[in-house]
Amino acid sequence: MNDFRADLHCHSTCSDGTCTPQELIDLAIRLGLKGLSITDHDTIQAYAPAFSYAKGRPIELIPGIEFSATLDDSSIHVLGYSFFPFHSEILSLCHQHKERRYFRNREILERLSKLGISLTFEDITLASKSKLETIGRPHIAKALVQKGYVSTLKEAFKQYLGEGKSAYAKGISLSVKETIETLHKANGLAIIAHPHLIENPKVLQRLLEMNFDGLEGYYSHFNRDENERWIKIAEKKQWLITGGSDFHGEIKPNTSLGSSWVSQETFQILHKHYLRNAP
Ligand code: AMP
Ligand code: FE
Ligand code: FE
Ligand code: ZN
Repeated sequence: MNDFRADLHCHSTCSDGTCTPQELIDLAIRLGLKGLSITDHDTIQAYAPAFSYAKGRPIELIPGIEFSATLDDSSIHVLGYSFFPFHSEILSLCHQHKERRYFRNREILERLSKLGISLTFEDITLASKSKLETIGRPHIAKALVQKGYVSTLKEAFKQYLGEGKSAYAKGISLSVKETIETLHKANGLAIIAHPHLIENPKVLQRLLEMNFDGLEGYYSHFNRDENERWIKIAEKKQWLITGGSDFHGEIKPNTSLGSSWVSQETFQILHKHYLRNAP
């Protein structure tokens, strides 16, 4: 046993985290992590600053992303790792997500307006520390709190933004299948994110039959027994087993960076895969 730990799931200010990529790297080093992957929602924007900042520092970084996708009507998160982050296929899918989010956010703001709540795009982006690449419901929730319409983020989701609530908009869909294909075209690995949170057994069954390379067996607050089910499934399928905290910073204060992690052995598989793609 050695003390190598790598957290493969966290978010920066490029999506809905509250630490910049550089702050995430500093925090990871302070916590004694030896490996990190920043998996922002639908953007690889963190990697230009993150790679240059990590150089010469005692931590290894591998490219990651958490793509939003849909299977029928279910919303599914797909983690991607070890691709070349500036691959045209990845950039093109990120761009499609940016457009998807623009129209969806506009629809949410229209719905809020009909409910007598006036929010602008400026209200939503104003609170962020750096240039936001991915604008999503958490940012709208934050603006609702700041403007005094609700008192907590949780309340914003419960009342307005959660699935099926009064200001919820689904937006267009990008399928799980095309997301896996994009990651594979960019020589990346496609991983089912937090299967623990998928409630529909039929959806889960269909996902397990798809062309994934692995699943996120170690996740956030889940303990050994709760992770066991996923580890067994992955072992049976000879899939990779990844893990991470899903750290978002202050926006999710009970989840700390490094609270879930993978060993050196797993990290090396992903890292070697990445080195084959690095320019
Ligand atoms: P979006 O990608 O815009 O659909 O927003 C989804 C993100 O919102 C998730 O990744 C979470 O970070 C956050 N989220 C979803 N549901 C809730 C909730 N009930 N309370 C707080 N944050 C949530
Ligand atoms: Fe998030
Ligand atoms: Fe997720
Ligand atoms: Zn996440």
